[in-house]
Amino acid sequence: MKYPFNKPFLTGKEKDYIIQAVETGKISGDGKFTKLCHEFFEERYGFKKAMLTTSCTDALEMSAILLDFKPGEEVIIPSFTFVSTANAFAIRGIKIVFADSESAGPNIDVSKIEELITPATKAIAIVHYAGIACDMEPLMKLTEKHGLHLIEDAAHSIDSFHKNKPLGTFGSLSAFSFHETKNVISGEGGMLVLNNPGLVNRAEIIREKGTNRSAFFRGEVDKYNWVDIGSSFLPSDIIAAFLYAQLENLDMIQKRRISIWEQYYESLNGLAGDGFFTLPVIPEYAMNNGHMFYMICRSLTERQELIEYLKKNDILPTFHYQSLHKSPYFKDKHDGRELPNSDLFSERLLRLPLYYELSDDGVSFISSKIKEFFYARK
Ligand SMILES: *Cc1c(COP(=O)(O)O)cnc(C)c1O
Repeated sequence: MKYPFNKPFLTGKEKDYIIQAVETGKISGDGKFTKLCHEFFEERYGFKKAMLTTSCTDALEMSAILLDFKPGEEVIIPSFTFVSTANAFAIRGIKIVFADSESAGPNIDVSKIEELITPATKAIAIVHYAGIACDMEPLMKLTEKHGLHLIEDAAHSIDSFHKNKPLGTFGSLSAFSFHETKNVISGEGGMLVLNNPGLVNRAEIIREKGTNRSAFFRGEVDKYNWVDIGSSFLPSDIIAAFLYAQLENLDMIQKRRISIWEQYYESLNGLAGDGFFTLPVIPEYAMNNGHMFYMICRSLTERQELIEYLKKNDILPTFHYQSLHKSPYFKDKHDGRELPNSDLFSERLLRLPLYYELSDDGVSFISSKIKEFFYARK
């Protein structure tokens, strides 16, 4: 394909930093580059504590462990999300209650959450879809009113804000992803952000196989022991070295991705105005961080026809999540409520190629093929 859906971008420094990491003679976790990455995030976004993990999935699993769910306690999650948001809880036997999306976009419909809260509800896990912030003011009121924890699946949300507050700073815990399809990458990789200082010590232990090894290396205890449950959630410093090269170029990456997004928006807005499809809505409290450009087609059939048409023109668009409440794994566990907006986005949302090296000409070409497809239907 001339225009793949995604193409990992290398800033050029990755190999240098990996060699540097290797030459330190210590390539396991929490080495020099891991520390640099942690400092970068804590300084830039005011995260209380950042911890690199092997993936966003792992950061979400750590969150589920850290919140200490008792048997029977529940978590509310949007149905329109990646499996990891839900799996992190399912794997620990925690009951999942799926919520619907807004009609204007895939984010969780905050106005419909309260009716799902029961005495057993312990937490709400949200996703800022496409890096566009959820409606945080009513959501924070709701979590305070009911004493619930908030977890942000911030996999799409690097360098995005709600008003002036960075995404990832709202939840007790937030999870980011550096998978190669995200804005800044390390192949596989993720990060847990802790905004509640009371959870930091235990998070260190869980991340280090349930041992107090981190405290031991700081000289705080004289031997290290098995003190809690845990797993191996920390990445090698080689991964962190790759990531640090990306972080140093974050502003450049963001600028280009946002520019591509805006070019798509401008080219396609006219046709959207004619009712052929809908474009993303960015509420006044949110912003666009250039993670993803999507359009909502009029039907599943039309989306499929458009995909075929674009593929014939060497362009690879993709659709996205399938409602989790209807998934083969969960459908028998779901309580039967209809979640129509989630289903609508499953059937009609289409994502266009968006990667750093996509040229202005590329964006024009892709937009022109979309126009051609719809003009033929006028
Ligand atoms: C990519 C993604 C994940 C998983 O990230 P990994 O780092 O691959 O584990 C989780 N949630 C959402 C919303 C994602 O887009």
